[in-house]
Amino acid sequence: MLNTKISIGGSNLPVYERGVKVTDIKTAMVGTPCQILAATKINKYEDQTGGSPIDVKIGLFCMENFSYSYLEKYLKGQGIELYEVKEFRIDKGKFIANLIDGNVFSIPIAETEPFTRKNCHICTDYTSDVSDISVGSVGSPSGYSTVIVRSKKGRKIIEDAIDKGYITIDEMSEKGLNLLKRIANQKISKNIKRYKKREAVARPVLSKRAMNEDEVIREASLCQFENLQNDVISVGSCVLCGACEYVCPIDSIQINHRKPVSKKECEEDCHACYFACPRTFVSNEIYPEDIDEKPLGNYLDIYSVKANSIIGQDGGVVSAILVYLLENGIVDEVSIVGEDKDAPWRPQSKLTSSVQDVIMAAGTKYSTTPIGFKALNK
Ligand SMILES: Cc1cc2nc3c(=O)[nH]c(=O)nc-3n(C[C@H](O)[C@H](O)[C@H](O)COP(=O)(O)OP(=O)(O)OC[C@H]3O[C@@H](n4cnc5c(N)ncnc54)[C@H](O)[C@@H]3O)c2cc1C
Ligand code: SF4
Ligand code: SF4
Ligand code: SF4
Repeated sequence: MLNTKISIGGSNLPVYERGVKVTDIKTAMVGTPCQILAATKINKYEDQTGGSPIDVKIGLFCMENFSYSYLEKYLKGQGIELYEVKEFRIDKGKFIANLIDGNVFSIPIAETEPFTRKNCHICTDYTSDVSDISVGSVGSPSGYSTVIVRSKKGRKIIEDAIDKGYITIDEMSEKGLNLLKRIANQKISKNIKRYKKREAVARPVLSKRAMNEDEVIREASLCQFENLQNDVISVGSCVLCGACEYVCPIDSIQINHRKPVSKKECEEDCHACYFACPRTFVSNEIYPEDIDEKPLGNYLDIYSVKANSIIGQDGGVVSAILVYLLENGIVDEVSIVGEDKDAPWRPQSKLTSSVQDVIMAAGTKYSTTPIGFKALNK
């Protein structure tokens, strides 16, 4: 059966027959750790999911994410409309909204509970452990991003982007590295406790992280949407990444802003959504067994980095890397998260080959969106 992932009016975007790449377009994706894990699973289980054109994964650090509607409601309660906000920032334990009129609204992170997504409370990946390159702010001085290089591909990209003048690197300070490890450890230990509590009433798919590969395939091959519903969605573990919607060969799954729903009966031999979901089993080939003891995951290099000519949330490094990838023909398109033009700060995914679009999408939108994959679906 033909499982068309992308088709824009006869363009040369990739078309997949289940597991078989028919044309060859490469995409770079930016995402939070859960989204990067989903991309990893989609590609690893290509035979089951149909694969994706994602070739370079740039992961963001992420402590938690917020619900757009609850954030909007909360700020309204404080007398602030979202269109009045120039920039959101998380810094030194504070959630900060810098307003266009120059005023600053700031609360301790602990008080963001009313608009934090509870689904993030079961997440134990702070630094996008399975990306090619991970980027965040913690550990580096203002105006710089912390960059963790994880794969040989990632290293080649960083080295060439330096040589070609897109970014500049500095050594990471020991103090910065220790802070980053401490914060990652805080997230991991807090959330392991939380998911163990949740798993007292749900199938223990998360505590079985880093399962043997054969076991993952055996278990996931017994599961369809109903299992995804029972093991992930109805127990509050869905992170709204959009991977299930993307891989479904019969376009049965739809995601509104709250949860995925399935509209049709599943195909008899299909288990794609369960394989792709970042909140089901993860094999030890993806997360090695000892990863929980390494707060930053496995990596090759770590630096403080800034873009030479782009202004972003921190060092502008994510945008500079994406521009480098496009301008040098390393990927054909990038999946970015811009802003909905009708709803300020509402994140909106977009697949683009335009450098201008990348520059416009710089900056963090602190709320959840079924990113990347949805854009690939166009
Ligand atoms: C929900 C969230 C939580 C985060 N939490 C932390 C944290 O706890 N600690 C930390 O150090 N860093 C965190 N970050 C990362 C940080 O905010 C910066 O994104 C990162 O430092 C890169 O900065 P930059 O200037 O290099 O990127 P820029 O050049 O500004 O590029 C940012 C890129 O992020 C993408 N993006 C924007 N919003 C989203 C979104 N909602 N989902 C997916 N992609 C998006 C855009 O496509 C853009 O390409 C978080 C990011 C997000 C989205
Ligand atoms: S589940 Fe939440 S905390 Fe974890 S990576 Fe995704 S958005 Fe961030
Ligand atoms: S909803 Fe059913 S048909 Fe669609 S991916 Fe999941 S198992 Fe397959
Ligand atoms: S159920 Fe779907 S949207 Fe939710 S985390 Fe799993 S793959 Fe992502």
